[in-house]
Amino acid sequence: MTYDVVVIGAGAAGLFCAGQAGRRGLKVLLVDHATRIAEKIRISGGGRANFTNRDLDLQAPQRCFISDNPHFCRSALSRYTPGDFVELVERHGIAYHEKHKGQLFCDGSSQELIDLLLAECTAGKVDHWQPCGITAITYSTSGGYRIETSRGSVDAPKLVVATGGLSIPQIGASGFGYQVAEQFGLRIVPTRPALVPLTFGGEGWVPYAELAGLSLPVRIETGAKKQRAQFLEDLLFTHRGLSGPAVLQISSYWKPGEPLVVDLAPGIEVEQALVEAKQRSRKKIGNELSALIPARLADAWVKSDAALQRPINEAPDRALVALAERIARWKVVPSGTEGYKKAEVTAGGVDTRDLSSQTMESKQPGLYFIGEVVDVTGWLGGYNFQWAWASGHVCAEALAR
Ligand SMILES: Cc1cc2nc3c(=O)[nH]c(=O)nc-3n(C[C@H](O)[C@H](O)[C@H](O)COP(=O)(O)OP(=O)(O)OC[C@H]3O[C@@H](n4cnc5c(N)ncnc54)[C@H](O)[C@@H]3O)c2cc1C
Repeated sequence: MTYDVVVIGAGAAGLFCAGQAGRRGLKVLLVDHATRIAEKIRISGGGRANFTNRDLDLQAPQRCFISDNPHFCRSALSRYTPGDFVELVERHGIAYHEKHKGQLFCDGSSQELIDLLLAECTAGKVDHWQPCGITAITYSTSGGYRIETSRGSVDAPKLVVATGGLSIPQIGASGFGYQVAEQFGLRIVPTRPALVPLTFGGEGWVPYAELAGLSLPVRIETGAKKQRAQFLEDLLFTHRGLSGPAVLQISSYWKPGEPLVVDLAPGIEVEQALVEAKQRSRKKIGNELSALIPARLADAWVKSDAALQRPINEAPDRALVALAERIARWKVVPSGTEGYKKAEVTAGGVDTRDLSSQTMESKQPGLYFIGEVVDVTGWLGGYNFQWAWASGHVCAEALAR
């Protein structure tokens, strides 16, 4: 069996790239070891697939991505934009809506997006082998790649690896892409779970553990001055720690041992409000505080400090100032993350120094890497799918050239 291109991994990037390459006249085989197709798309965006983000700044798309080489993703993202993908979605008659900060979701279900990708593959006459395991890959300068699979061997001059990252192993994620990279002498940026809930433990966390289920808008930051990352989003208390969009976003930047600094009342002058309340009120500090932050949080906060369990008019100003400062700069050190089982993506991956940003081809001739397997990780909000489409697109263009 001989093809022009074999694409390994029928997820977002692989399906899109295979369809685009097929539509350009290439004979394409798409191979995946999972039983069900595109499971990650199916579960994405709460079942509605947040398929892109229309707020992506085309002048500086790299701002919403993390990589050891931040500018690597620029070329692909500016050559295939959210507008391009939206046009495709509209051409397939899929209804969608914007939810929050430019995030576009299907009105119906993520199955519509899978159907779109499959229809593109059908239009490109792409062959599918699924489920199909890969046992070995060899390369010769005369014959290109030979891929040994559970359905026999196949030859192709070009091989695209689109096997994604390590998150959610229960639906088919594997480190296969990294192994292929290493087999051909490419470097790997160490991987870590990203867009992941953070865990907390020990005595200090006890007062907050009972807040599970509470959600509130916060400003959250981590990192030293020059590399500081900051997000204004909702935070969610869970049984094991913190989650919600604010924490998922910051988790991609967090380094073990470093603190997070959380403003629990962004945009509110807590110090001024408390000092003013002191002039007119005899209520407990906790009661006044609950006018500024959710009552359950105010309660837990006050409970953890005996000096705060008194009427506000009896509190010294400096105690109120210190309380306001702690609410504006709540410093917490996570004990860890929920790991790949709960992470939406894997940060790190195939080192972009060994890839062309124009084509996604690696230093190894005819070997390409696209999507999440590459050391490019998007923010929450449709950016990871946009990277899958954009990297798949420039790769397909290069394959057909
Ligand atoms: C719960 C959840 C929700 C998400 N929601 C969103 C969202 O709304 N918006 C967004 O932009 N991003 C979202 N993401 C991230 C997004 O799903 C991924 O970034 C994206 O799917 C990556 O595309 P990919 O094609 O690189 O990898 P994947 O989509 O993961 O596809 C990889 C494919 O490779 C196959 N594969 C793996 N190993 C092998 C092997 N050894 N042999 C053969 N095949 C193999 C897998 O079976 C899989 O089909 C979400 C992720 C999760 C986990």
